[in-house]
Amino acid sequence: MALVSLRQVLDEATKGGYGVGAFHVNNMEQLQAIMEAARKTKSPVIVQASRGARKYANDRFLYHLMLAAEELYPEIPIVLHQDHGNSPETCISALDMGFTSAMMDGSLLEDGKTPSDFEYNVRVTKEVVGYAHARGASVEGELGTIGGIEDEHGSGKSRLTDPDQAVEFVERTGVDALAVAIGTSHGAYKFTRKPDATVLAMDLIVEIHKRLPNTHLVMHGSSSVPKELQDIINAYGGKLQPTWGVPIEEIQLGIQHGVRKVNVDTDSRLAITGAIRKVFAEQPEEFDPRSYLKPAREAMQELVIEKRMVDFGQAGHAGDYDPIPLSEMVSNYSKKTMENDKFK
Ligand SMILES: [Zn+2]
Repeated sequence: MALVSLRQVLDEATKGGYGVGAFHVNNMEQLQAIMEAARKTKSPVIVQASRGARKYANDRFLYHLMLAAEELYPEIPIVLHQDHGNSPETCISALDMGFTSAMMDGSLLEDGKTPSDFEYNVRVTKEVVGYAHARGASVEGELGTIGGIEDEHGSGKSRLTDPDQAVEFVERTGVDALAVAIGTSHGAYKFTRKPDATVLAMDLIVEIHKRLPNTHLVMHGSSSVPKELQDIINAYGGKLQPTWGVPIEEIQLGIQHGVRKVNVDTDSRLAITGAIRKVFAEQPEEFDPRSYLKPAREAMQELVIEKRMVDFGQAGHAGDYDPIPLSEMVSNYSKKTMENDKFK
């Protein structure tokens, strides 16, 4: 059994001073790419599914793919995480299915679009924390709103996290991890130029980490949108507009200041699409889906995942610890020492 809570993986990441990539899964090839990269780099890994992924693949297909990953890669600690749960019901349905972690994004109302108020966010997040911790699973909350729209989720606006509110939020909800809004956004079109301190509020991360040294911070919308991946797509008939993502140095700076979970989706999408376009352009006679899905899977594994796993520092850490079963996490959570910021 290598399915573990987000809490354990991020606690271990804190001890080791590294970040852990959270990669999106919608289909078999993406999961295979992630797991092979994890094996090759000996990395613990967070596999996450959005509401859109659960709808696209169907819950049961998705969950059984993840069970296959657990069976085939017993040496890799794997967190199964619900990304951007829009309501307690969404999170609870994931946890009931066997996910080991859920994000309750109470920064938006249930429609996934309208910004909520602080009291609403505290209430729904606390509800999910109660449900999850009683089952040994973990919860990520969000404060402030991350820009952009992903899988129809997002207000389209960015509202930076307030450090004072962050302290109150963590105390009142007991979340294991907190997604902070620092000016990043979802999707490929994050910035129209290389982002600097005027658009990316890295000092906010430093400030929040200072106030909440024992809360794991999460960076969303953290694809680097590498130019070489954009170029491959455009070289083979794609029409991406020039765009910039979050430079890896900025993510690494965040990791030095308490960021433990780093969400990456766009980079994987770019790698896959580039590889498929290349086959279509160079071998127009091909019609076996394996002829383009295999290079797509390899591109995701090699160009994105391995690089990210090495860049974030999680490589080499899969064997550092024994997985704590969720049943044992239940009693850990019920001990006062494990409550939010008192957790050491
Ligand atoms: Zn996100």
